[in-house]
Amino acid sequence: MIPLKTDDEIEVQRESSLLVGKTLAEVAKRIEPGIKTIILDRIAEEFIRDNGGIPGFKGYSGFPATLCISINDQVVHGIPSDQILKDGDIISVDCGVIKNGFYGDSAYTFAVGNVKTETLLLMERTKQSLYQGIEQAVAGKRVGDISHAIQSYTDQFGYGIVRELVGHGVGRQLHEKPEIPNYGKQGSGPKLTLGMVIAIEPMINLGTRHITQSQDGWTIRTSDRKPSAHFEHTVAIKNDKADILSSFEWIEAVLKQKSE
Ligand code: MG
Ligand code: MG
Repeated sequence: MIPLKTDDEIEVQRESSLLVGKTLAEVAKRIEPGIKTIILDRIAEEFIRDNGGIPGFKGYSGFPATLCISINDQVVHGIPSDQILKDGDIISVDCGVIKNGFYGDSAYTFAVGNVKTETLLLMERTKQSLYQGIEQAVAGKRVGDISHAIQSYTDQFGYGIVRELVGHGVGRQLHEKPEIPNYGKQGSGPKLTLGMVIAIEPMINLGTRHITQSQDGWTIRTSDRKPSAHFEHTVAIKNDKADILSSFEWIEAVLKQKSE
């Protein structure tokens, strides 16, 4: 069964999702060569708690941190550590928050210093593939329409689309039905209806789509060790246009300021 949310519940979930966006912006301020990823995690946890939220990932199935920080060939679920970011790295930062009983879930991939053009393009196109998917996230369409939109946009560049990990419903639980794959056929899968809230999250690899799990039991890496990008929004299904509950607005304001 797919849990449906009332309009009031969606507003609560918007608040959680916006807190995720603001948290990622706080993290963005500090992303630079020389910083340890564990420091970014502490900044996020403190900001979430100061704003009345609870880190949504910490303790989830035993995950030890507030953020998933995945560097370069790490796809998702990287654990913050004493590892120091270097010029030319990219990092995917995934954050979940619970506030007033509902989860928000969003992720953004950042450049650390000067990153190769082919990798910057991977990042930009992965973000664009998320918006291609969101365009299909309207009542009356099916999950496969979202999946197909992401896949058909991404395939033209010859990238690898991760299949083992997918987007998901999100609400009182971090992971609810339905699954939202980043590949698939138009018109297939569950019908999208009003009241559904889903996390759409393409994970796109520069090379092969295949992945391996690291010995820490969490970190997913690309099999060929080429870079991977990941962007995610929490969105509510509406009639004509998806309502994006999370936001990259604050993140991108920080990035703009840093580039000036
Ligand atoms: Mg996430
Ligand atoms: Mg998610």
